Amino acid sequence: MAASLNLRTMVVEVGPVGGKLHRIGALENVLGSWSTGPQLAEALSADLERLEKAGRCTVFQSLASRVSGHDDRAELALDDGRVLTAEFIVVATGVTDLAPADAEWITASAEFSAAPLWRATPQDLTGRTYVLGADRPLGTWLRAHPNVRTTLHVLCPPADAYKAAEVEADSRVRLVPISHAAITKPTYGGGWTVEVEGHDGTKTIYAATSVLNNLGNKPAAVAGLVSGEDGYCPADKQHRRIRIAGDLRAARYQRIATAQGSGAEAVLAYYYGTTLSGGSGSLRE
Ligand SMILES: Cc1cc2nc3c(=O)[nH]c(=O)nc-3n(C[C@H](O)[C@H](O)[C@H](O)COP(=O)(O)OP(=O)(O)OC[C@H]3O[C@@H](n4cnc5c(N)ncnc54)[C@H](O)[C@@H]3O)c2cc1C
Repeated sequence: MAASLNLRTMVVEVGPVGGKLHRIGALENVLGSWSTGPQLAEALSADLERLEKAGRCTVFQSLASRVSGHDDRAELALDDGRVLTAEFIVVATGVTDLAPADAEWITASAEFSAAPLWRATPQDLTGRTYVLGADRPLGTWLRAHPNVRTTLHVLCPPADAYKAAEVEADSRVRLVPISHAAITKPTYGGGWTVEVEGHDGTKTIYAATSVLNNLGNKPAAVAGLVSGEDGYCPADKQHRRIRIAGDLRAARYQRIATAQGSGAEAVLAYYYGTTLSGGSGSLRE
């Protein structure tokens, strides 16, 4: 959008273009003929290459470490010490994975680690599989593997109940509503012992062959942004030269279409602010 408005545009990206799209095995809510996230990521990457070749955009492989807004400019500090200056910065760093140690409702022995559900193949699901949390990748995983018959035992804390509603009709999901889970290594044999406490305080012990992480994520806020108690960065709380787009805005509304739309809107707000003479949003003095 920025390049189409002839704004001098630079994209700073630390990973592969497309971010979370690379994790989406089945896609059905984005216009166009995309059936997986990587297909769309490849198209985005080709778009950026085309824009770069046409001299309309520069892509910078780097980690952004701090943003700051000033009266006459915005600055982006990179972790190698360089500082980029712009009239305006859109921050769309998304979210990063939560680990079991980040979840208050889980206690686990030191040697415990859980591979991510989104990466699991049907071959990984031998025996009894427990899933920590009912975050949205669960629905994506089920859609991407329509022929897998394995039951997924999903430990679902109260905060995930609204997400679980998306998958509760799937007969391959057994939702286990819980308030706490304790995960330890069994004295004999492999796998994990999972002791869960239900909402009424009842404790039940399960033997799990594998435990997968589907806890969701936390905002990947860059230093210098204003964030709320939940760590997300509301767009309307930032310096006027800094805008937020995509998943970083709030825990809900995390979708591809809203990420694209909010990014486009952020740029248009800047564009109109700079072109409307005397407009209250004007950034160029
Ligand atoms: C498994 C899974 C399935 C999903 N399925 C769907 C679906 O079917 N439909 C749907 O609409 N949505 C789906 N989503 C959600 C969707 O992927 C996200 O809402 C969307 O990709 C968010 O885009 P974003 O640009 O805000 O963040 P991201 O895609 O996370 O992109 C953020 C980018 O910022 C980069 N970055 C982060 N920090 C820095 C830094 N400090 N410096 C430089 N670069 C940085 C990252 O490398 C990344 O490329 C799914 C998500 C997951 C995880």
